[in-house]
Formats: sequence, C-alpha cells, structure tokens
Amino acid sequence: MSKSLIAVLPGDGIGPEIISAALSVLLKVRPDLAHETALVGGAAIDATGTPYPPETQALLRRSVAVLFGAVGVPKYDGKPVRPEQALLAIRKEFDLFANVRPVAVFAGLEGASSLRPELITGLDFVVLRELTSGLYFGEPKHTIFEQGVETAIDTLVYRAPEIERIARCGFELARRRRGRLTSVDKQNVLESGRLWRRIVNEVAREFPDVQLDHLLVDNAAMQLVKDPRRFDVLLTENTFGDILSDEAAMLTGSIGNLPSASLGATQNGATFGMYEPISGSAPDIAGRGIANPIAAILSAALLCRYSLDDEASAQRIEAAVAAALAGGARTADIAMPGEPVLTTDGFTARVLEKVASAG
Ligand code: NAD
Repeated sequence: MSKSLIAVLPGDGIGPEIISAALSVLLKVRPDLAHETALVGGAAIDATGTPYPPETQALLRRSVAVLFGAVGVPKYDGKPVRPEQALLAIRKEFDLFANVRPVAVFAGLEGASSLRPELITGLDFVVLRELTSGLYFGEPKHTIFEQGVETAIDTLVYRAPEIERIARCGFELARRRRGRLTSVDKQNVLESGRLWRRIVNEVAREFPDVQLDHLLVDNAAMQLVKDPRRFDVLLTENTFGDILSDEAAMLTGSIGNLPSASLGATQNGATFGMYEPISGSAPDIAGRGIANPIAAILSAALLCRYSLDDEASAQRIEAAVAAALAGGARTADIAMPGEPVLTTDGFTARVLEKVASAG
C-alpha cells in the first residue's frame, strides 16, 4: 500500500482532456507521487455496464486522494444506469462530508464577473458545505396521499456530531487562512438551525484565535453580492451550501476556473479527498481540445494542500496558473474579444513553463 497513491478518474466528456493537463502539472511539482487511472461514469458503463466498477472502488480504497474529471454522457440521460451515480456512490462510501469550494478572482479576469470589478478585485474566500446530511438525506422522504391529498415529504435532520465535525473543519480552515469564519443558518425558524448555531458556538471555544460570526442564510445570499470580500470561510449546511456555493462561484464569472475538494476521514495515513472541477463534462466542447483546464489544475493544488498536507506545492501550482494568466494565456471561454486563444494543451504548457521557472 502506497502512502501517496493518487487515483485518477478522468471520466467523460472533457474529463480526460482536463485531467491529463492537471496530472502533468501535479507530477511536475510532485514527481514522487504514484498514480493509477481507472474508469468511472459513462466510460465505465460502456466498458463494464456499471458507472463505478469494483476495480475503481478497489483503487480508491488503496489511495489517499482522487483526481476526478467529470461524469455525464447525453446518451445515458434518463436511463436507469447513469454516469452521475458514480459520484453519489463515491461520496457515500468514503463519507465525503466536507465540500470545500475556493472562490478567487485572478488578476486580469475581473471583467468576467457579473459584479463590478471594484467589488471583486482580490476576492478570495472559501465556501465549506456539509455534504452528507440535512434535507437531501433525511428520512422519511417520499410522496404519499394524506386524506386524499398528494403530499411530498422531505425531512431536514442534523445530528450534533455531524455539525460538530464540519464546524471543526471550518475553524481549522479559517485558522490556515485569514482567521475568520462566518457560519450560515436559519435559526430564527428552523430547529436544525438552532442546533447548528449552538454547536458551532461550542466548537468555537476550541478556536479562540478564529473570529466567528453568524449570518441568517437570506442575509448571507445578499452579502455575497453586496460585499463578497468580507468573507474568509463561509460555513454552511447542505442545502444552503448547494445554493450559496453556486452563487459564490458565479462571482468569478467562469465555471471553467473553479476547483473543489470533497473531504472525508483519514485513509491510508492522509485526509482522503476527491478533487474535481465544479463543472460537468461539457459534452458540447468535448474532444476538441479547447476546454479550460484551470479548474482541474487548481483541483490538483487542493489535493496537495488537503490530502498531501503539502502547502508549498499547492501554492506553487496556484502561482503558476496566476502567472500564466498574468502573461496573457487564455482559453476560449475566458478570452475577451480580440485576445489570442490557446488550446487546452497550449494553456497547460504555459502553466508548466511557469512551474519550471519558479522551481
Ligand atoms: P457543464 O458544466 O458540463 O457545462 C456548462 C457549460 O459550461 C457548457 O457550455 C460547457 O461547454 C461550459 N464549460 C464547462 N466546463 C468548461 C471548461 N472547463 N472549459 C470551457 N467551457 C466549459 O454542465 P451541463 O452541460 O449542464 O452538464 C453536462 C453533463 O455533465 C451532464 O451529463 C451533467 O449531468 C454532468 N455533470 C457532471 C458533474 C460532475 O461530474 N461533477 C457536475 C455537473 C454536471
């Protein structure tokens, strides 16, 4: 068993193109890493009939982290066996309860945001979303007839230990950043919100160096577009996080730039995590070599930071992407009219050059 084996799951659509880019950058900064590639999603259904084959599962169990592309193929839409089922199976099996989504605007790309540049210049915060409990998982969850009326029921459940572990993650994250944590809830109307706030306050006693504040979710949604630079780490439960993290992502303007990490417990001596772009498989541009690899490359940086505990390599990758962008490198999705456009490989070559020149 290797302590630093990375599972590489390119998946479907643009997945193989952007993961090949990310892997080349990762291996440039960490040539010592062992890595193995396996099938997932539609590619796995094509080959084996299932989106998450036993060989892939076995690889994940031997690994410390997964570098994941995307899953989704139009021909499987509406079919009983779908590529996306692999994602849920992996999240569930490895209890990936903490979803980290950094939201940062690179210098030179401020114009891509729907907000005015002066509101987002230098924007740099992280959304931390609880991923395995709450409204999406609570039971009962069904549609019944109550006194002849068709009634859909979802259940919002949070248990104190679930709140405690994600809160602890949030404080630790804040401690590694600028030391500020904003916890989001709806404690004025929800029981689960009141428990959330109480537990977060209890955990806060262990982190006197972190400055904590609380926002009701409706106010958090407003603040994200009014004054997003006030945030450092934004801690939220599952459903609110689903919505707020997409809102936050859009502040940066381009879906192809944003990485994510889904973290679980310790496995093989490290924090097990799955690292992936927030976008999907982009079937409309797949196979053309034009996809933006930034999100995948930055996902590799997060892998270094959280699963390898290697902050220096994470920063080296992030700095190389920033330097490539500062030097004018652009893929089609982020180029302004008239700017020269690079292919996926062309952009990646620029990042590799910057890694080499900084190394
Ligand atoms: P998408 O994110 O794949 O694409 C939305 C738009 O963004 C498209 O126009 C696409 O070309 C563009 N885009 C996305 N990533 C890009 C990149 N790196 N560079 C340049 N442009 C990029 O969303 P969709 O079209 O709604 O979904 C496509 C498939 O992906 C579906 O099957 C869906 O279920 C699946 N999906 C998978 C994941 C995942 O694997 N985590 C997440 C979301 C959607």
